[in-house]
Amino acid sequence: MSNDAIKSPSDATIAARGGWVPEFVTRPSAPPIYMTTAFDLDDLSQLDAIATGREAGYIYTRDGNPNHEAFAADVAKLEGADAGITCASGMGALTAALLAMLKTGDHIVAARVLYGRTGQLINHLCSSFGVTVSYVDITDPAAIRAACTPKTQLGLIESVSNPLVEVADIPAVVQALGSVPLMVDNTFATPSLLRPIQHGAQLVWHSASKYLNGHGDVMLGVMVGASPLMRKIRGALSLYGMNSNPMESWLGSRGLRTLPLRMTRVSETALTVATFLGTQSAVTRVYYPGLSSHPTYGLAQRLMPRGQGGMLAFDLKGGRTAVDALFRLLSETIPFSPTLADARTTLSYPAGTSHKFMTAAERAACGISDGLVRLSIGLEDASDLIKELRDALSRLAD
Ligand SMILES: *Cc1c(COP(=O)(O)O)cnc(C)c1O
Repeated sequence: MSNDAIKSPSDATIAARGGWVPEFVTRPSAPPIYMTTAFDLDDLSQLDAIATGREAGYIYTRDGNPNHEAFAADVAKLEGADAGITCASGMGALTAALLAMLKTGDHIVAARVLYGRTGQLINHLCSSFGVTVSYVDITDPAAIRAACTPKTQLGLIESVSNPLVEVADIPAVVQALGSVPLMVDNTFATPSLLRPIQHGAQLVWHSASKYLNGHGDVMLGVMVGASPLMRKIRGALSLYGMNSNPMESWLGSRGLRTLPLRMTRVSETALTVATFLGTQSAVTRVYYPGLSSHPTYGLAQRLMPRGQGGMLAFDLKGGRTAVDALFRLLSETIPFSPTLADARTTLSYPAGTSHKFMTAAERAACGISDGLVRLSIGLEDASDLIKELRDALSRLAD
């Protein structure tokens, strides 16, 4: 008699039902990844209880998963919000919120200077879905007040702008918006340095692909705010399928554990590097809110006293050609990489990446020149970065 004949259940059944460790046998000291499409349920009453929120639990990963929830809950706590949702990317989080909060005929007030794709998304909402927008100079409260109409549902700004790292006067913007809720992109500052909700914002979102994760290896987004609004946004995210996956949410959670340490470190290094760049003849201007020469230095001291973050920019003499040469000289040490907030220091070129969707005239109006380089400071030693930059800049002058 062959073994197969007496084996019950069969290999196919064992294989199909495999992979389990009896519950409570293990006590992992790090959170597991719930790589599951759905969650088994006891019966129909449990389905109803979970679906209506009477009982904690999960049904289907597009609607919720422990890894999504763990990440969003930690960001909410750090930001001082009630609740949050995790999305497939920062853009996904923004889309979920706008779809949940806006309808045809509504109006929004947005900062004139925004991450390129954010502006593009708003423009798409306007051209395809009949939403209208007023872009305003957020340093001008009278302009914000004048832009608000009875149809205005939302104000949109960034806590620290890209790429000129201007800190927004969030309390002044909140006041000027009156009863219109403010949504803040806090990607550059992170809650370790600035908490917009403390200053009156209703919603805060992040490209968690950046500092929250901090290791340049995930695409992830998060939005936090008051529970009723977050339930509505969660509905849109699940309906439109903008959920993240458990693995990337888990990586985001792991990244969060070192966020405060990383933000302190990059702030210190960025100030040192910005000060150094100011001494270089190839550099005509340095933008860092921790430098007293920066237009929002005073605001940064008030709203971000613990540190001004890891993003800085500088204008290079010689425009695009000089930028190209600098990137080649630094390619082995400080790579040109169209992202930010990696553990490594990276260079970017706003006119060709984040802001390429603008016309040259629009870029000029925002102060983004053809010689503007953005530096995202990582966790390296400041003295190594300075040596590498000094060498490259001096060869540029040759
Ligand atoms: C990257 C970025 C986004 C978009 O987030 P994704 O995760 O790339 O979708 C939004 N805002 C800012 C400031 C960013 O840097």
